[in-house]
Amino acid sequence: MFDQNPIFIPGPTNVPDRLRRVMDMQTRDHRSPAFGAMLPELFDGVRKVFNTKDAAIITFPASGTGGWEAAVSNTLSPGDTVLIARYGMFSHRWIDLCQRHGLNVEIIECAWGSGAPADLFAERLKADKGHEIKAVLVTHNETATGVRSDIGAVRRGMDSADHPAMLMVDCVSSLASMPFDFDGWGVDVAITGSQKGFMLFTGMCIVAVSQKALEHRKTAKLPRTFFSFDDMLAANGAGGYPYTPPIQLMFGLQESLKMLFEEGLENVYARHFRLAEGVRRAVDAWGLRLCAESADLYSDTVSAIYVPKGFDSNALTQHAYDAYDISFGVGLGEMNGRAFRIGHLGALTDVTMLSGLATIEMAMADLDYPIELGSGVAAAQQFYRTTAGASLAKA
Ligand code: PLP
Repeated sequence: MFDQNPIFIPGPTNVPDRLRRVMDMQTRDHRSPAFGAMLPELFDGVRKVFNTKDAAIITFPASGTGGWEAAVSNTLSPGDTVLIARYGMFSHRWIDLCQRHGLNVEIIECAWGSGAPADLFAERLKADKGHEIKAVLVTHNETATGVRSDIGAVRRGMDSADHPAMLMVDCVSSLASMPFDFDGWGVDVAITGSQKGFMLFTGMCIVAVSQKALEHRKTAKLPRTFFSFDDMLAANGAGGYPYTPPIQLMFGLQESLKMLFEEGLENVYARHFRLAEGVRRAVDAWGLRLCAESADLYSDTVSAIYVPKGFDSNALTQHAYDAYDISFGVGLGEMNGRAFRIGHLGALTDVTMLSGLATIEMAMADLDYPIELGSGVAAAQQFYRTTAGASLAKA
């Protein structure tokens, strides 16, 4: 009605007024010297968020899916083998993309709700004496199940197998919300999008590429035109773009980085933990269960929550939308009908989060869920009020 209700889906996320104002701009000439001049600082800022000193930062006018395609098509050849585990809708979609690109995809099937199986990856890599596996693909934060995987453990497993495969990581729903350590984890390609932790509109994927992965592009034979790293690096190096850039998003990214650095990345991560923990306390108070199998897997950007047996999670999210004009995430894939998701990433504070918890609680009460009205909100309030601190004041 007033066009101001927050959304609680795990991306696209709420776009703060400050970023909306910046992106509401007259268009600029991308062939002007001013455009080229903004790129180095922009990419330096992005490097800080990925936690990398010298990875190339490459953007395309595309959503995260385009980033997957760019990662694969610039570094691999038809028939190459890649190793990937399926534990949710997004790892599933990346598998599908690889298969459609003619790659030989070795899949480790895992329960939805579990995370990247570092030990199974290591075992498989150890057995691959001929180094047929060219890349290990990992979804850092599985948005369908609310599971964050341990990328450091995957890297340690790869190192223990002394295997040269590239490590590609989808951090679409984790970057700029949860810690990411591109250099420390030895990541070769990491992919994200503008519309999650960066709090921007959808339409730009952002890819970080290691020097090792850049080398692979010289021999990689999968076709690429729109997503060519070569074309993009050459054009950016000359202060331009190989085609029309998403200029408003680039200015938005510049401002988003300012916001993140003003708050401080550590505080950004702490805020996301607090938001998430409040939600988890509420889930517990409702007597419901998260899809994530164990606490070490809990995501700080999204919680996927099973509804009690006999209830339909789609009816719940639909009712919240119809009755209260608030969006929550539906259950995806295997979780459809069985779970709903609360997105808690991006431009959110404790107070906004409480409004989301109050809303879904009302929706559950309306549909006769066996919960006590106010119990989840009270649990979250209790957590928020006893842990409010510096990070919140700056948010
Ligand atoms: N990977 C993850 C983990 C995601 O959450 C998403 C989208 O939600 C994607 C990839 C695909 O990104 P997009 O929808 O921007 O193409």
